[in-house]
Amino acid sequence: MSAPSYGERYAASLMNTFGPPKLTLARGAGAHVWDTDGKEYVDLLGGIAVNALGHAHPALVSAVTEQMSTLGHVSNFFATTPQITLAERLVSLLGHGPGKVFFTNSGTEAVEAGFKLSRRTGRTHVVAMEGGFHGRSMGALALTSKDAYRTPFEPLPGHVTFVPYGDAEALAAAVTDETAAVLLEPIQGEAGVVVPPEGYLVAARETCSRHGALLWVDEIQTGTGRTGLWFEHLRSGVVPDVVTLAKGLAGGFPIGACIALGAAADLLQPGNHGTTFGGNPVACAAALAVLDTIEAEGLLEHVTVLGQKIRDGLAADPRVVEVRGEGLLIGLDLSTDVSAEVAAAALDAGFIVNNPTPARIRLAPPLVLTADDADAFLQAWPGILDAATGEGS
Ligand SMILES: *Cc1c(COP(=O)(O)O)cnc(C)c1O
Repeated sequence: MSAPSYGERYAASLMNTFGPPKLTLARGAGAHVWDTDGKEYVDLLGGIAVNALGHAHPALVSAVTEQMSTLGHVSNFFATTPQITLAERLVSLLGHGPGKVFFTNSGTEAVEAGFKLSRRTGRTHVVAMEGGFHGRSMGALALTSKDAYRTPFEPLPGHVTFVPYGDAEALAAAVTDETAAVLLEPIQGEAGVVVPPEGYLVAARETCSRHGALLWVDEIQTGTGRTGLWFEHLRSGVVPDVVTLAKGLAGGFPIGACIALGAAADLLQPGNHGTTFGGNPVACAAALAVLDTIEAEGLLEHVTVLGQKIRDGLAADPRVVEVRGEGLLIGLDLSTDVSAEVAAAALDAGFIVNNPTPARIRLAPPLVLTADDADAFLQAWPGILDAATGEGS
C-alpha cells in the first residue's frame, strides 16, 4: 500500500472550509513558487494580494529574523518601537493629518475594530455595499452582503443596510442622521475587481458629511501599494474617517490595522477593545520592511506601468469582454462561464490565477512581479483560453 498523498492527509486532518487545495506548495522565491513535486509556477495571485514583496524577499526575511531575535512579543501592557513607528508611518502615508491606529492580526479583526468603533458614535446603523467583502467573523459577516456566507449564521448583528455599489443616489437615499458609518471598498476585490464610477467616493464623502456619518474605506485588499498608490482612495482626493488595512501590509506576516482619522481617532477608549497579538513587534517590523522596500524599489511606479501592460495584453483576446482594475489588482470578465476551467488551464501551464466568480478572473500578483514573468503569462494567455474552452489547435 502506498503512503497517503498530501491531498488525502489534508482531507483527513483539516476542516473542509475551503474545498480541496489545488496544490501543496513547498517553497517560493520572488513571484515564483514550487509545489511538492518540484513543478514551478508564476504566482499571479500572491496569496490573495498578500505577498506584496513576493516570496522570501531578503528585506522581509531579515526584518522578521532580526526582530524575533531581539523582542518577539510583549502584550499590550507594553509598547514597542516597531509598533509606534509603524503607526506613525501609516498615518503619515495617508497624509490626512492626525490619526490613530489599532493593530490586529487579520483583515477581519481590523473590520471588527472599525465596526465597534462605529458604535461608539452613539449610533448603530451602518450602510454597506452589495458585493462587498469584509471578512467572516459574526461582525464582519454582518457587513458582508453575500447571502451564501450569511444565511447559515443568522442572526447576525443588525441594523445594516446594503445598497448597490457605485450608485451614489442609492447611497444618499440610505444614509440618515441615524447612520453611524458608510463602509465601502474603493475597488471591490472579492467581487472580481469592480471599479466604481468616477466621483463615487467624493459623493459618498458628501453624503456622510451631510449626516454626520463616518466614511469608512476598507483598503484591506487595495491598500499598501497594490493599485499603484499607497492607498487607492487617495486617487479620489477624499478624506475618510476610518481606513482598514491588512493583506499586503506585512507581505505575508499576519497583521491588520484599523486607522481612525481626526475626531474618530478617539472613539475607542480604555476597555472598549483589545487583542493579545495585535501590534506584535515582529508583525510591525515586517510591515515596516514592506513599506521601506516599496519605497526603495520604486514599486508604486512599477505596479502602475506593469499593471497597465497586463490589462492591455489580456484585453487583446476577443474571449475577454472587459478588463478592470488599477495597478496590480486586475479583474477580467470572460465571454462565457469558464473561469474555473481557465484557472485550471492556467495552473497546468504554470500560472496561478484566481476565479472569484463563474465568469471572472482576478490577478493580484506580488508587486515585485517582473516584466518577463508578465510577458510569459501574456504569451501563454491565448493558449490557456484555448485549453479552457476546447478551442484552438
Ligand atoms: C480579505 C478581505 C477582508 C478580510 O481579511 P482577512 O485577513 O481574510 O480576515 C476584509 N476586507 C477586504 C476588502 C478583504 O479583501
